[in-house]
Amino acid sequence: MKKHNFGAGPGILPQSVIAEAAQAVQDFNHSGLSILEISHRSKDVIAVMDEAEDLVKQLLQIGDDYGVMFLTGGASTQFFMSAMNLLNEDETASFTDTGEWASKAIEEAHNFGKLHIASSSKASGYDHIPTELDIAPNSKYLHITTNNTIYGSQYHFLPKVDCPIVADMSSDIFSRQINGNDYGMIYAGAQKNMGAAGVTLVVVKKSLLGTVKRTLPTMLDYRVHIAKKSSHNTPPVYPIYVSLLTLRWILSEGGLLGMEKRNRAKAELLYNELDRNPLFVPKVKKGSQSWMNATFLTADKAHEPLFTAYCKANGIVGIEGYRTVGGFRASMYNALGLESVQLLVDLMQNFKP
Ligand SMILES: *Cc1c(COP(=O)(O)O)cnc(C)c1O
Repeated sequence: MKKHNFGAGPGILPQSVIAEAAQAVQDFNHSGLSILEISHRSKDVIAVMDEAEDLVKQLLQIGDDYGVMFLTGGASTQFFMSAMNLLNEDETASFTDTGEWASKAIEEAHNFGKLHIASSSKASGYDHIPTELDIAPNSKYLHITTNNTIYGSQYHFLPKVDCPIVADMSSDIFSRQINGNDYGMIYAGAQKNMGAAGVTLVVVKKSLLGTVKRTLPTMLDYRVHIAKKSSHNTPPVYPIYVSLLTLRWILSEGGLLGMEKRNRAKAELLYNELDRNPLFVPKVKKGSQSWMNATFLTADKAHEPLFTAYCKANGIVGIEGYRTVGGFRASMYNALGLESVQLLVDLMQNFKP
């Protein structure tokens, strides 16, 4: 039976990417060697790193005033590394608290400067993205989480602020049209929407760097990684290669406009059914609902295990809600086809508890 992967992360990848990635493990670029066993200083690997950087710049429409890095440590490392590189202890950064990852970013940045909460939806169980923002005067930057993977909410507007925006885009990077120039910094763990686990994309406007007074350890200094093209030490070559293959796939499917069309169609199909079908209830308010992670409940809690089993019996994988949240979460990352969402909707319509 065909499996339909609605898992939240690591998430679904295009079949063609998986096939090419498998091929490179056997024989990379007809070199007779595996990509797993060649030097990161070799010509072929440098070409992979360069092309990946170029494609990121092309998709985000950014120029050489931005640095593009492929780092390790996950998005979780960027929670503190961003503050270490951008914020002095006597300076203030504003944060929006829109979910679990946003809260963790706040917790981790705390040690490196003064933080101000510009908005929060915590009191209502993170069921929406607040549109009102209270930015601290002289904020060095505003940190947002563009897509809240666990609660299933997403920014569908760009906050209008005078300071640079630092965005955690781990779960919606390259899922819709985005102009990188609107951001001071973007970071994303690759494993949700752009590749395999093990690498984190970091894009930062170079003019924001070099203003902090603290001593930065070499490996935690963005300027080092930009200058060394992410190869100060051994980079995670294979996950970067999988990201490159995914970036090529995105371009071949119409770029970010193509992704936006795909993802809008999938989201409309599922949310329309959630609105129509009395057996199910969406968890997030209209206007804030995520195209990437749709969270919902069965109207009757007793139906939850029944629908879980029904999905499983039909090849749907990874649709259970986050372990601390429960309910259902349908992750519809770029590579998930419309036919998978159609199957889920068919199951919702045929569900006879
Ligand atoms: C998954 C996720 C993270 C954590 O990513 P790691 O790479 O596991 O550290 C952070 N932010 C968001 C929005 C996420 O979805």
